[in-house]
Amino acid sequence: MTDTLVKEIRRLAAEKQAIILAHNYQPPEIQEVADLTGDSLELAIRASKTDARVIVFCGVHFMAETGATLCPDKRVLLPNPNAGCAMADMLTADELREAKAALPGVPVVTYVNSTAEVKAESDICCTSANAVQVVKSLGTPEVLMVPDRNLALWTQRHTSQKIHHLEGYCPVHDNLTAAAVAEARRAHPGAVVMAHPECPPEVIDAADVVRSTSGMLAYPGESDAGAFIVATETGLLHPLAKRYPQKRFYPASADMVCADMKLTTLADVRRALETGEPAVTVPEPVRVKALRAVERMIAVPRD
Ligand code: SF4
Repeated sequence: MTDTLVKEIRRLAAEKQAIILAHNYQPPEIQEVADLTGDSLELAIRASKTDARVIVFCGVHFMAETGATLCPDKRVLLPNPNAGCAMADMLTADELREAKAALPGVPVVTYVNSTAEVKAESDICCTSANAVQVVKSLGTPEVLMVPDRNLALWTQRHTSQKIHHLEGYCPVHDNLTAAAVAEARRAHPGAVVMAHPECPPEVIDAADVVRSTSGMLAYPGESDAGAFIVATETGLLHPLAKRYPQKRFYPASADMVCADMKLTTLADVRRALETGEPAVTVPEPVRVKALRAVERMIAVPRD
């Protein structure tokens, strides 16, 4: 059944001139059927450079919005319309306007895990891979980072600029404890602990290295270690095991599962390709402002 679905999906993708993108946290079978896998921004940027007319974004709603923001000439589909993001839902544009009013003149750095409306209210976006460079690039004594409290606290460790933050968080990462990391270390002695900056400070302190998802995918290639404890959503174990078959990877906690990321099924992908629905769009005035914040981030040089 799975093989048949995969064949149908590939046939429909060719027929509709569609590109299938899958976030690293998607179920393995979705990552396998995709043309490209990666983090949300990297995927949207790569998709914008293809000839595809349709983008099937296997991820959550804000990722499809980012695709629609960067690719206004393409139809962007979110195969399961119920796939949302708890962190993105923690901040509305009205709430951000209120926070900005309390900090006049302080630029806003917004994590890409946010709605297009929130991005549109921001000076610049950031990812977990470039947050420090983005904040430093502003050269201001203070910045406001939203919506993720933990990403802001981690960034604060790497700059003397004062970082104000709101109280958003990713439940999948924020629920991880240092005690769980210690337990994983006991179960896998000698394994290197890689933590995502969305983890709380006590986990950051307990980790050996802190990396974004793309950084975690690269790090085992730079390290002599043979085993790694991975403190991010468990979907990342699939591409890690595929890329480094000679190394071993363990979840920091089996509970690090994002239910929204696991909603997409092969049947959803096939239906989206067949029907061209559900499409995600961003109103043009919002899109233009959100795009400005994303493009400003892309222009920041990497270290
Ligand atoms: S893992 Fe966290 S940040 Fe990512 S989609 Fe799920 S709730 Fe949102």
